[in-house]
Amino acid sequence: MVKFDNVTKRYGSLTVLDSLNLEIAPNEKVAIIGPSGSGKTTVLRMLMTLERINDGVIYVDGEPMTHMEKNGALVPASERHLRRVRGNIGMVFQHFNLFPHMSALKNCMEAPIHVLGLPRVEAEERAAELLDMVGLGDKKGHYPSQLSGGQQQRVAIARALAMRPKVMLFDEVTSALDPELVGEVLQVIRRLAKEHSLTMLMVTHQMGFAKEFADRVCFFHSGKIAEQGAPEDLFNNPREERTQQFLSAVL
Ligand code: ATP
Repeated sequence: MVKFDNVTKRYGSLTVLDSLNLEIAPNEKVAIIGPSGSGKTTVLRMLMTLERINDGVIYVDGEPMTHMEKNGALVPASERHLRRVRGNIGMVFQHFNLFPHMSALKNCMEAPIHVLGLPRVEAEERAAELLDMVGLGDKKGHYPSQLSGGQQQRVAIARALAMRPKVMLFDEVTSALDPELVGEVLQVIRRLAKEHSLTMLMVTHQMGFAKEFADRVCFFHSGKIAEQGAPEDLFNNPREERTQQFLSAVL
């Protein structure tokens, strides 16, 4: 479903992703862990095509995200192409990034109406269903400032799902929350992973959740996958010294 084929991303002289190869199967749940600055968030940002990569190709559902076919060859994609293919991907950020002047319901209706061209009635129906699903059926008319951090993050998840993405990306979605609000957000993600056929990629510092949620955990180091495997293998028997050091510092 998602494929990074020798992807390199540099900022000036700093190589943040270093010929990265990563393939994620449809419906697979992958957690990305690793030290600060190892390139975890950059993987998600490149998938969202928020910035251009320097080398390699990223594919989603078999289609090059970052490039287009021209006379049988791949050339860098136009902004229009990027906008179109971005629709396959939903992202939830650490800071919820909701529209402050819109109710929870309106937050979830905006993109389906303006980007997908969904009729207002249909968009409202879908938004209401999703807010029910994340346990906020009684808060549809509330503005972000009237919601707790955990509730705002659940609206952000509903908003991303409203676009019917094939792939959902989560970037440290509980890092900005008070500890007592983390559980309710993880519970929504847990349900989503169980009940919906979605490919999910999650950057997280919560090793316990990564262990429970993921089919596969990738340990990043210096812009590469230093080690990957099933959670029970990677957490219980890490092979690489770098993974061992990281895990002993965070567990
Ligand atoms: P953390 O766990 O701290 O969030 P991370 O593994 O997600 O770290 P990234 O956010 O992917 O790390 O950043 C990787 C490296 O790229 C860092 O050294 C960061 O400073 C650098 N970087 C990220 N974005 C930019 C940018 N826009 N311009 C310059 N350097 C950047």
